[in-house]
Amino acid sequence: MLDFVELEAGLDAEERLIQDSAREFVDEEVRPGIGEHFENGTFPTELIPEMGEMGFYAPNLEGYGSPNVSETAYGLLMQELEACDSGLRSMASVQGALVMYPIHAYGSEAQKEEWLPKLGAGEAVGCFGLTEPEHGSNPSGLETNAERDADGYVLNGSKTWITNSPIADVAVVWAKDRSSDAAGGDAVRGFLVETDRDGVSTNKITEKLSLRASITGEIGLNDVRVPEENVLPGVEGMKGPLSCLTQARYGIAWGAVGAARDCFETARQYATDREQFGGPIGRFQLQQDKLAEMATQITLAQLLAHRLAELKACGELRPQQVSMAKRNNVRMAREQSRVAREMLGGNGITTDYSPMRHLANMETVYTYEGTHDIHTLVLGHDLTGIPAYEQ
Ligand code: FAD
Repeated sequence: MLDFVELEAGLDAEERLIQDSAREFVDEEVRPGIGEHFENGTFPTELIPEMGEMGFYAPNLEGYGSPNVSETAYGLLMQELEACDSGLRSMASVQGALVMYPIHAYGSEAQKEEWLPKLGAGEAVGCFGLTEPEHGSNPSGLETNAERDADGYVLNGSKTWITNSPIADVAVVWAKDRSSDAAGGDAVRGFLVETDRDGVSTNKITEKLSLRASITGEIGLNDVRVPEENVLPGVEGMKGPLSCLTQARYGIAWGAVGAARDCFETARQYATDREQFGGPIGRFQLQQDKLAEMATQITLAQLLAHRLAELKACGELRPQQVSMAKRNNVRMAREQSRVAREMLGGNGITTDYSPMRHLANMETVYTYEGTHDIHTLVLGHDLTGIPAYEQ
């Protein structure tokens, strides 16, 4: 595996173990059938509990059954999962960073005890409902609302593009609390909404040409009653969802490197095996140039991911630094998966090889969790002090 500047030499025993066991799991259990899942638009749901047993969901959290592994170990895990498919990493990212993290950070003791162990074990599936049909890049405009009634809240609204909503047991729904004391009386709050409540619908989106080995859906909320104890008590305002996205984007910055590395390894192998004009195509300088550039870009992205882990471990990671890494590493994976695809010639457009699948997946990864453009604006704001995205 590509590790050109020997970053693996700096891993501790636990980090190596997590990397190796994730690699082995992926190779044995997922990789052989992932092309078929991609073609069929399905996710290997039978593996969800096994992924829990393996400790794939938020292992970097502390307590409630989570092993509290290092941020590097968590990043390596995301890298190995996405080296197989972005759908697999998305499953772990959503469950861990977007559902377990907000419950862990902002939930009541009762919510933590109820949900964290079963989400961690993969006995329950969660989803994260922020995006709405009319509010994607600017989620602060969200219209889903919560009105107080006698013993809780009534939720109305609709969410779209929600990973795992059709198979979820619980949704973290971000809605405006019409009764809040905040200015304007509509602070954003997080609600734990069990999907079997009356008035909840979770239609599947079937027309996707990207991230096909992942289930995506909507969440319809039609007069859905939830008790007071389903509100996340520890956060109010956009800080709630945005802090979750920072966690997930951290995992994406690592994961995208995995997808690119898998494309590189596939292309390197193919260049050695495939013969044209009397010898392997890897002897041509044009092909070597592609491999050299790919390896360089992957190595730079790996370095950025490793530095992010150091900053995160000492509590100094800024969201803007995560934006830079998400933006750079996903763009890199998107560009390099295309180069790998072209090195495979006609075979490159099939599901027999991974690059075209990764390339298609990267269109989603480039767009979700803040589009490339939005992270550019975040960086522009940070570098100049002037926000370009305000109305
Ligand atoms: P828009 O916001 O309409 O953007 C369209 C284009 O305009 C983009 O290119 C964008 O960069 C550009 N643009 C927008 N504003 C600006 C600006 N100010 N300056 C310059 N350019 C701008 N959401 C969830 O809440 N939970 C999930 O689990 C989830 N999973 C997803 C899974 C998939 C497969 C996909 C595709 C999306 C998922 N999303 C999820 C939603 C995702 O986060 C949004 O698609 C994303 O935030 C972009 O929003 P949008 O699609 O509405 O695009």
